[in-house]
Formats: sequence, structure tokens, C-alpha cells
Amino acid sequence: MPPVFRFAPSPNGYLHLGHALSALLNADAARAAGGRLLLRIEDIDETRCRPEFEVAIYEDLAWLGIAWEQPVRRQSEHLADYRTALAKLEAMGLVYPAFESRTEIARFVNEQEKKSGTAWPRDPDGGPRYPGMSKLLQAEERRRLVEAGAPYALRLDMEAASRQAGPLHWDESGETAAADPAAWGDVILARKEIPNSYHLSVTIDDALQGVTHVVRGRDIYPSTSVHRLLQTLLGLPVPVYRHHRLILDSEGRKLSKSTQATGLRELRAQGVTPADVRRMAGLD
Ligand code: GLU
Repeated sequence: MPPVFRFAPSPNGYLHLGHALSALLNADAARAAGGRLLLRIEDIDETRCRPEFEVAIYEDLAWLGIAWEQPVRRQSEHLADYRTALAKLEAMGLVYPAFESRTEIARFVNEQEKKSGTAWPRDPDGGPRYPGMSKLLQAEERRRLVEAGAPYALRLDMEAASRQAGPLHWDESGETAAADPAAWGDVILARKEIPNSYHLSVTIDDALQGVTHVVRGRDIYPSTSVHRLLQTLLGLPVPVYRHHRLILDSEGRKLSKSTQATGLRELRAQGVTPADVRRMAGLD
């Protein structure tokens, strides 16, 4: 079986040099290994994704000379797959509804920090770890709130899930990396009935699409711990991973989709060629 690579951008902005690096590394690796290259559009966040950004992804990648297999998987068309996985985790008793808004959590954490004089634990993305208030609710109270139509998020019971899965590892560019999902606390897997979490959809899709090699930016490295945990809980195959360097701006910050200076469309308009982009991304 040939190895399967994928590039999985979110259409919430225009692609920049950092995306070009990721896409080109995947395309180069697939070619070198006689493998396949898939393209996946990660468009489950309806509030941020826009059709014109998706069209631009196809244009920019084609301009770079990247060829991907058809059909493209668009996550928004596969919510049933994520719902099935969620139902499995629910049946295992590893998921619970949490009723606090982001603002309520921030306020609680602020108060705790003031009271104790110590910093509240943060997840690898810098957000406060969920304090777990809703986990303490009695089953009856939970049911009452759900039936009353209170908004909620479905969270993974990280302690129970980690206990069930045991110690986890993955292959990171040929070395063994130890997973630390607990660093994330009780992550959100869905908002009410909408299974729109990045962690869940990326894990399910890589498995359903038979992805064997995940090549993506170093910024996503900590998330791999959650993906490894979900793979084990759901009995999914485990790809090998390579988290590549990021391209930083002149101030040492990660590139963002709003930084026009490194946008592929802007570069193209200035007469930069695909070969130039390879060099600018530090390839060749
Ligand atoms: N959709 C994610 C992003 O654009 C990448 C997901 C992945 O490669 O696993 O940042």
C-alpha cells in the first residue's frame, strides 16, 4: 500500500508562506515515497470559514504546482461521521455536557487567581484549563438543564479517558514522542449537537481517509496528544507524524492569515514565481 499524505487547510483566510511550506513538504514527501496526496478542507467552523477562501486554496495550490487527488473531502459534508464517533465516546461514559460560557470560565479563573495569588493552569494553546464545575453536577440536574434548552459544550472527561487509554506514544520523525493529553484538561468535542471540534474531526478524517503520514506545522504538535488519545479510545489506526518548523515574521511571530506581506496571492501579484516561493519557504 502506498503511503498517504494530506494537506488540510481551513478556509478562514488566504494561504501564506507557512501553508506553502506545509503543502510543499507533503507534496515532496508523497512524490519521493511514491505515495498519494490528499487535500482536505477543514471547514466545520461556520463562523470563520468562507467559500471564497476555499476557492482561493485551490487556485493557490494549483499555482504552486501541487496536484492532489479528487474528490476533496470537505468536513462540513461529513458531520454524521463525527457524530457517530461522539456517540461512541458518550456510550463509553467519557463525555459530559458543560454549561459554562467562555466568559463565565474566564471570570471564574480570574477570581481564583486573585484569591490564591497563583496562576491557573493553562492548556498548550494558552487557554485556561476547564475548572470542571459541570462535572460535579448530579445526573438529574444535568438532565434538567439539557431539557430546559441550556446551551452546552460536550467535553471529554480527560481523567477517565486517560486512565482507560494508559500511556500513549507516537512516531515523530522516527523518534518516540510521549503523549500528554492531560495538559489539555477536559477538551471540548462538540457544541451542543454540533460535532465541530478540530480534535475530533481531524482524528476521524485521518483514519477514514487512510492517512499514514501526517506532516503539519509545529504549532499543532501539542494537539497530537489529544489525537492519539482519541485514536486509542475509538480503535483507530495511528499515522506517523512529522511536525515541521514554522515560518516566522520579522518579529519572530507565527505568520497569520491576515499578514498580507506573506500571502501567496500578494506574492503572485508582485511577480514572485512558484520557484521563488520554494526558496522563500527555505526549500531547495
Ligand atoms: N486545519 C488545520 C489548520 O489549518 C490543520 C490541521 C492539521 O494539519 O492537522 O491549521
